[in-house]
Amino acid sequence: MPGNLTFDDLKSHVEDGSIDTVLTCFVDMQGRLMGKRFHAVNFIQSSFRETHCCNYLLATDLEMATPDGYASTSWEKGYGDYVMAPDLSTIRLTPWLEGTAMVLCDILDHHTHAPVPHDPRAMLKKQIARLEALGLDAMMATELEFFLFEKSFDEIRKGGFRDLAPISGYNEDYHILQTTKEEEVMRPIRNHLFAAGLPIENSKGEAETGQEELNIRYAYALDCADHHSIAKHAIKEIAWAHGRAATFLPKWHRDKVGSSSHVHQSLWKDGEPAFYDAEADLGMSDLMKHYMAGLIAYAPDYTFFLAPYINSYKRFAKGTFAPTKTVWSVDNRTAGFRLCGEATRGVRVECRIGGSDLNPYLAQAAMLAAGIKGIEDKMELAPPTRGDVYEDAKAADIPQTLRAATEALRNSTFLRDAMGDDVIDHYTRCAEWEQEEFDRVVTDWEIARGFERA
Ligand code: ADP
Repeated sequence: MPGNLTFDDLKSHVEDGSIDTVLTCFVDMQGRLMGKRFHAVNFIQSSFRETHCCNYLLATDLEMATPDGYASTSWEKGYGDYVMAPDLSTIRLTPWLEGTAMVLCDILDHHTHAPVPHDPRAMLKKQIARLEALGLDAMMATELEFFLFEKSFDEIRKGGFRDLAPISGYNEDYHILQTTKEEEVMRPIRNHLFAAGLPIENSKGEAETGQEELNIRYAYALDCADHHSIAKHAIKEIAWAHGRAATFLPKWHRDKVGSSSHVHQSLWKDGEPAFYDAEADLGMSDLMKHYMAGLIAYAPDYTFFLAPYINSYKRFAKGTFAPTKTVWSVDNRTAGFRLCGEATRGVRVECRIGGSDLNPYLAQAAMLAAGIKGIEDKMELAPPTRGDVYEDAKAADIPQTLRAATEALRNSTFLRDAMGDDVIDHYTRCAEWEQEEFDRVVTDWEIARGFERA
C-alpha cells in the first residue's frame, strides 16, 4: 500500500473525529498538488468515487494563465471538466496539517472516463506498464535540493523578491553545527513526512549558504514520484508555518550553486536486481548497459522534462557539480550520468541533469522510455569518461537553452513513439509558451545595463 491508511482506516478516523479534512489532489504539469479540501464526511460518503476539476489545470502555467495552442482544451472548447479519480491506495495522514488526510487522484476524461494521456501520473503509468510487459520493475529515488530563506514567502513577495537572505551564512555541505540551527524547520519536515508514510532516509546541509537536501529511500517508480511531489509540497508548507520560505527554483542567484534533483534508477526482475551481474565488469548486467545507452543517447530529446523553465538552464554551469554533458562515468560528479554502487546488488545509475524544478512523473516517464528504447534496440554503451568531463570536447552537450530543448522535444521521434504525438505536442506547447512569456518581459538586467549606457 503506497499510502499509510486504508479506506477503512480513514473511515474510522473520521468517525472518531481525528480526521475532518481530506485533501483530494492531483499533480499538474508543473508537478504541483492541485485539488480540493473535502469535509472528510463528504469524502467517505460520496466523493471518494470521483470529483471534478476544470480541464484548464493541465494546460496552464505557473501563473494559472490560459495559453492558446493546446489541442486538449481552449476557450473555444469552453474549458470543460476532468474527472479526478481518487487512487484509494494513496490515502495518507498529513500530520503537519491538523485533522487532515490526503489522497492522490488520476485524471480521467469527463465523458469516457479514459485516462487523460498528458496527465503526468498517466504518463508515468504508461511507461511502467511497458516495462512490466518486459517482466521488469523500476526502482527510483529522487533527491530533493532546495534553499531555505530567513523570511516567509509572503514577506519576500511583498519585498519584490529583493535582498533575499538564505537561512545560513556559509556553505553548509554536510555541516552538523549549521544544520542544528535549522532543525526548527528540518526536523518537522523529516518527522511529519515519515509519519505520512514516506520512507525518509535523512536530510543534510548542501554545498551553498542555506541549501538543504532531503533523501527518501528508493521505491517503485510511481511511489517515488508520489513521495517527491508530497515532500516538495510539505517542505513549502512546513517552512511557511515557521515563517520561512523554501525555494526549488534551480538557480536563485548567479553566484550561487543551483539546486538539482538527481534521479537514481535500477530495474528489478522478480524481486532481484536485474542491473547486477556478479561476473561482469563493475557488476553491470547487459540489461543495465542497454538501459544506460538509451538514457544517454536520448538525453537531449527529454531534457525539457528535466529542465522545464528558462531558469533551469542557468544551472548548467561548469565547475558547479551540475552537468553539461550527456556521458557516463564511474562515481564522478561532473558527468550527466554517474554509476553508483558498482559491483554490488545496489548497482544503479544516477541521472544528474535534472533541476530541483523537475516534475518527477515526467522526468521518470521520459527516462524509462529512453531506457526501454535502449533495451529494445540492444543499444551499446560507450566506455565511461574519466577526469573533468566539463573539458571533454568530444562529449555530447545537453541542450543549453529552453529553446534548444523545446526543438529537441518537438523533433523526437523516439518520444513521439513512446508517449504519443498528442502528448509531445501538448508539452512542446507548454515549453514554447514559457519561452514566449519570457521573451515578452523586460528584465532588470536589461534596464540596469542599458538605461544610461545604451
Ligand atoms: P549518496 O551517498 O549519494 O547519498 P546513497 O547510497 O545514500 O548515496 O543513495 C542515494 C539514493 O539512492 C538514496 O535515496 C537511495 O534510496 C537510492 N538507492 C539506493 N539503492 C538504489 C537502487 N538499487 N535503485 C534506485 N535507487 C537506489
